[in-house]
Amino acid sequence: MVIISLLSTLYDGQRDCVSVSAQIFRERYNNEEGGSMQRERYDVVVVGAGPAGSSAAGEAARRGLRVLLIDKKFFPRDKPCGGYLPRRALEIFNNPLPSEVIEQHIHEVRLFDSRYQASTYQSEQQLGVTVKRQVFDHYLLKQSIDSGVEFMPQKTVSVIKYRNHTQDMVIKIDKDFIYASKMIIADGVNGTTAKLGDINHMRVKWAKGFALSSNVSCESVQAQKILTYIELYCIDFLGGFGWVFPLRSGLNIGVGSWAGQAQQLSQFACIFKERILAEKGIEARAVQFQGSYLPIGGTFRCLGNHQVLLAGDAAGLVNAFSGEGIYYAMQSGKIAAQHIVRSCEESNYDLKKAYTQKIKQLFYRQFRKSFVKAVMSGRKNRIIGGTVRANQFLQDIVQMMYI
Ligand SMILES: Cc1cc2nc3c(=O)[nH]c(=O)nc-3n(C[C@H](O)[C@H](O)[C@H](O)COP(=O)(O)OP(=O)(O)OC[C@H]3O[C@@H](n4cnc5c(N)ncnc54)[C@H](O)[C@@H]3O)c2cc1C
Repeated sequence: MVIISLLSTLYDGQRDCVSVSAQIFRERYNNEEGGSMQRERYDVVVVGAGPAGSSAAGEAARRGLRVLLIDKKFFPRDKPCGGYLPRRALEIFNNPLPSEVIEQHIHEVRLFDSRYQASTYQSEQQLGVTVKRQVFDHYLLKQSIDSGVEFMPQKTVSVIKYRNHTQDMVIKIDKDFIYASKMIIADGVNGTTAKLGDINHMRVKWAKGFALSSNVSCESVQAQKILTYIELYCIDFLGGFGWVFPLRSGLNIGVGSWAGQAQQLSQFACIFKERILAEKGIEARAVQFQGSYLPIGGTFRCLGNHQVLLAGDAAGLVNAFSGEGIYYAMQSGKIAAQHIVRSCEESNYDLKKAYTQKIKQLFYRQFRKSFVKAVMSGRKNRIIGGTVRANQFLQDIVQMMYI
């Protein structure tokens, strides 16, 4: 009953936004004491409603599973991010992104070396788009709800109890216990849910980046100085990069580097922003930077077990050079859901092995290449010293990361 009543108060307070399945069913289970009580049962519980979680939940629901999606925050919520989506991320959607979700269409990338000299890559075809995460993530969530996902905001998991390979897990969400056959953990870079499920992360300590971003509002006339291109800057930090991305009426400015330099980077962010705005002659309203860690993709990680899979940042899937993770989050979420569907259909399906192999095969080669680029870009005047080499470097990174 508690869960049903919670469902009715969810999601911006609008009951009709939550597509609670008409066939909500309950199963009668024996509890530990031998008595019986009614508890909700789901095929999949997804933790975290960012790009990974919403994509995973939507995919599983479209394939006929009963899905519960929870997030510790109320939506719409913001998230520190540059908000650049490459073309391959857009290709994941069955339908084009609605225009109200898109800030700008990108056709050009400009790479600045550490002396602020630019090389340019242009394309007649769209390379990608910029979005605001508050709007984009809310759109993804609504899509998954429209597919039949039941969503609960402001909820976290506090207990995950395995029984045996063939039985459902018992999951405690706030004060309620539910049953679930499978789980997808997509609670981001600082997520703690995997630990509750005894999933050995084996995180390599140094494999962490840190990035800060800020949405700068400025007069639309001024913002039009940079409209259809993104700017990337090689900065003098290990694995350092800076960016300027256009928004409808402003810019997203940010910097990132290896996490060991987080403190110095935070100080540098303001200097970088002032320099960029001065150079462009833009007057902007003062805004604070928001920062977050980034897992560096391609290092060894455990991606799940026989019943639980990790996706997105929780699985460590971020490109070390660009700090880009939305595409990997959406794609890994979708793949996790597809593997879970197969494991429900086939007995003796090795869920963890099949999913890990697929993720490695799809992403790890690119992650390792981008790691090398990240180390190179931070070394000012060495690798990106000459124009020819800068052009080559730009071609490489655009092909690898920005399309
Ligand atoms: C400054 C910065 C700039 C970036 N720029 C870009 C960019 O331009 N392009 C790009 O592709 N990527 C960018 N990234 C990376 C990108 O933001 C992430 O890779 C992406 O958000 C990962 O998506 P996710 O769904 O895995 O996690 P998240 O988007 O972090 O979502 C996780 C969700 O889980 C919820 N959650 C957390 N803990 C719990 C819990 N215990 N229980 C329930 N819910 C929980 C959170 O509230 C959140 O909604 C940037 C990152 C940073 C820090």
